[in-house]
Amino acid sequence: MLELADGTVSVTRGDRNGLAYGLVAMTVGGGTRLWQAMSWRFFPEDFRMASEYGRPEASTLADWPISYDDLAPYYDRVEWELGVAGDGTGVLGARTPRTRGYPMPALPSDSTRDVLAGAAGRLGWGSTAIPFAINSVPRAGRAACVRCSQCIGHACPVDAKNGTHNTFLPRALATGRTDLITASQVVEIVHDGRGRASGVRLITESESGPVETTVRADVVVVSAGALETPRLLLASGLGNDWVGRNHHSHAGAFAVARESPEGAKTDLGPGHSVATLDFVHRDHEGWGGGVLYDLIPPYPLARATAAGNDPEVGYGAAHKAAMRRRNLPLGAMSMVQEIPHEFTRITLDPTLVDRHGMPALRARYAPHPASQEAADYMKVHARRWIEEAGGRRVTALAGAGMPQGSEHSAGTVRFGTDPAVAACDERGLLFGTDNVYVADASLHPTNGGFNPGLTVMANSLRVGRLLAERW
Ligand SMILES: Cc1cc2nc3c(=O)[nH]c(=O)nc-3n(C[C@H](O)[C@H](O)[C@H](O)COP(=O)(O)OP(=O)(O)OC[C@H]3O[C@@H](n4cnc5c(N)ncnc54)[C@H](O)[C@@H]3O)c2cc1C
Ligand code: SF4
Repeated sequence: MLELADGTVSVTRGDRNGLAYGLVAMTVGGGTRLWQAMSWRFFPEDFRMASEYGRPEASTLADWPISYDDLAPYYDRVEWELGVAGDGTGVLGARTPRTRGYPMPALPSDSTRDVLAGAAGRLGWGSTAIPFAINSVPRAGRAACVRCSQCIGHACPVDAKNGTHNTFLPRALATGRTDLITASQVVEIVHDGRGRASGVRLITESESGPVETTVRADVVVVSAGALETPRLLLASGLGNDWVGRNHHSHAGAFAVARESPEGAKTDLGPGHSVATLDFVHRDHEGWGGGVLYDLIPPYPLARATAAGNDPEVGYGAAHKAAMRRRNLPLGAMSMVQEIPHEFTRITLDPTLVDRHGMPALRARYAPHPASQEAADYMKVHARRWIEEAGGRRVTALAGAGMPQGSEHSAGTVRFGTDPAVAACDERGLLFGTDNVYVADASLHPTNGGFNPGLTVMANSLRVGRLLAERW
């Protein structure tokens, strides 16, 4: 259910629209199963957005209760345990200080990186290879990337892409101290009404139909993502008034050339290759801006279909020749800071329920004008980059956010030091409870100018470490 500030309300059914919640992945490993695997650290400034920029009217902008330095050891641990390939010596080493480099060298360069790095240099900008949680060399008993270019939304055909499903989870299972229950939905956190949880109620799909079970627990850690975590807490009657508030993901800016230099855009995987970080917290402009990187090429199937639909081209050898001739469009995109809006909030729908009787999620959304400002700021740079690289007839777009939520949704159970303005304390403990923790993107008060996956994992490891010390 989507509710806009102008009073518009629309129902989007998840079973009839695969993009109802953006690209959120409901599977073992969550988003990291199907992600592109870009693995950025947030910049130190990303943890203190309100202090750096002030809190704009009608926003819920806030600082994180922890700093980059608090998270740095956990970033390091994720990069090495998950397996990230990158170059930590240049701008990444300078602006996200680190004690050692990445465990694998960056993926090899390609024509897109060469062309766009050259253009960035002529504009006086820096550039870097993108760090990916992808094996650039064989590692952890799994192959290196064969550069098939179908990372986003697909399992990797050679298992070179690293996610929690092929790293942390199997290692946890191998200890013998972890049980993984699949094909199940937690529908309620069972508690005594005074802040003490005793377990969870879940429904498991089986061949004979849904089976309900209650699992007893001393501690409950909720990691259902920034849309489902607040929904579960609200449905269970847990947490304060900040549960569900502060929902945001990223604003976006894009530039695509309709005429691109021959061969400038490669179709080698993983699709993105090169980035400039020159507009991340540059001179306090554009609300911290964001990372700018090359746009992925259209997928082979989309290109093949387009070629096949052309009666001049047909199928077989002619089709293959046409596919080889097709020049790919050069483009750039930015993950721009989204400034959270007071109106924007996840609530429960008063009447609509899912197939298990759990109240449906209602997303209230209004874009904050500062998000559009930030996106417009990055649009200018995206266009300049592509034009400098030789792109012609460039179309540029900028959007403030993603109304119904997305794979980058964040902030809905944000952590802080004060229950008057946050839902969890800095350890991830839900205010008003003794033993309910949150460890996912819901905790992020702000979501940086980067894809957030590495930060979600680093902070979750941090919450886990503190929890282990307490229990
Ligand atoms: C296609 C795609 C591409 C992406 N590319 C990148 C990228 O390149 N770089 C990057 O940094 N980030 C990327 N992301 C985003 C990244 O994956 C997310 O930021 C990250 O996974 C969020 O972690 P999370 O733990 O908050 O939620 P999720 O990863 O969404 O995990 C939530 C888990 O909870 C489960 N769940 C939900 N509700 C329930 C319930 N009631 N009961 C039981 N289980 C439940 C879900 O099945 C899921 O396994 C991408 C995501 C997608 C989907
Ligand atoms: S480009 Fe292909 S082979 Fe490489 S990690 Fe992505 S899906 Fe795997």
